[in-house]
Amino acid sequence: MNQHNLNLETFEQALQRISTYLTPTPLIPASGEFAEGKQVHLKLECLQPTGAFKLRGALNSLLQLTPAQRGLGVVCASTGNHARALAYAGQLLGVPVTVCMSELVPQQKVKAVKRAGANVEIVGRSQDDAQVRVNELCQSLGVVEVPPFDALATLVGQGTMVLELKAQLGRMPDTLFVPVSGGGLVAGVAACAKLINPNTRVIGVSMLRGAAMHASLQAGHPVEVEELETLADSLGGGIGLNNRYTFDITRQYVDELILLPEETIAEGMRAIFYDEQLAQEGAGATGYILARERPDLLGETNAIILSGRNVDPNQLMSVLKGELPYGGDL
Ligand SMILES: *Cc1c(COP(=O)(O)O)cnc(C)c1O
Repeated sequence: MNQHNLNLETFEQALQRISTYLTPTPLIPASGEFAEGKQVHLKLECLQPTGAFKLRGALNSLLQLTPAQRGLGVVCASTGNHARALAYAGQLLGVPVTVCMSELVPQQKVKAVKRAGANVEIVGRSQDDAQVRVNELCQSLGVVEVPPFDALATLVGQGTMVLELKAQLGRMPDTLFVPVSGGGLVAGVAACAKLINPNTRVIGVSMLRGAAMHASLQAGHPVEVEELETLADSLGGGIGLNNRYTFDITRQYVDELILLPEETIAEGMRAIFYDEQLAQEGAGATGYILARERPDLLGETNAIILSGRNVDPNQLMSVLKGELPYGGDL
């Protein structure tokens, strides 16, 4: 038990709820070389439809709405993997989804969200403007917002991957490597893991360029950081100054949160491509390369979450060629 009344049953019920719509993602032994004698397994969340784990939280949220709420539809102000996931989940369940985005969001991202089945509303010139529109829609039409990370249904949904992983491995790993942005993924994973086995270590990983959760943990409360371009673009953005869940849960359960420079993230994308023959976006590559470069963090049995594959092919090709788009100075 803990401050948000999360218990194992919450996660088990969520897994049951979403498993009608999602097949478990594979857990495979890593082919690449890690510290000798250590077992390393990869949880392939990048193989979810829409290319990232966020479908778990989106489905868990939509499946708990009342029929009236489902009829009215839902909104969010995301530009990335959460928007795609929500659009896809909405299509699957017949729930209308509206995604508010600013004029500055690249066309290719707008198209991806439309293709996944959402209505897109272009408003203003920043993520904050898009959020203002979301709040308006909620107040005037009574639609429900499905937040990308800071909501119990979202983070519990993300945490269901731990139950799958435990069943696939036959036990809990000693150490789990998890990428961190707003913290829905790491809060859900860490809470579920520690409820099963408090000795499981959870290592969070973000990029050096603009890691809001890390800065907030250091400050002791949620703070804003300057958003910078990074290969791990899915890890950008704030945690919300009024963060209600993920900051506390991360502070309580995550053992360490480590930051990586751009060149290390690029190295991770290359290593996963060459050694595992998988395409991974920068965010998804962080845990893998951290586990490789820091053998001191490994337990006997380890699991790394490969969180997403939505990488711009041109960016992946430049990284494979050894070019470093951002932060060569870091
Ligand atoms: C959203 C996302 C993350 C981070 O998840 P949070 O819940 O925001 O911490 C990591 N990797 C990928 C690929 C993502 O889309």
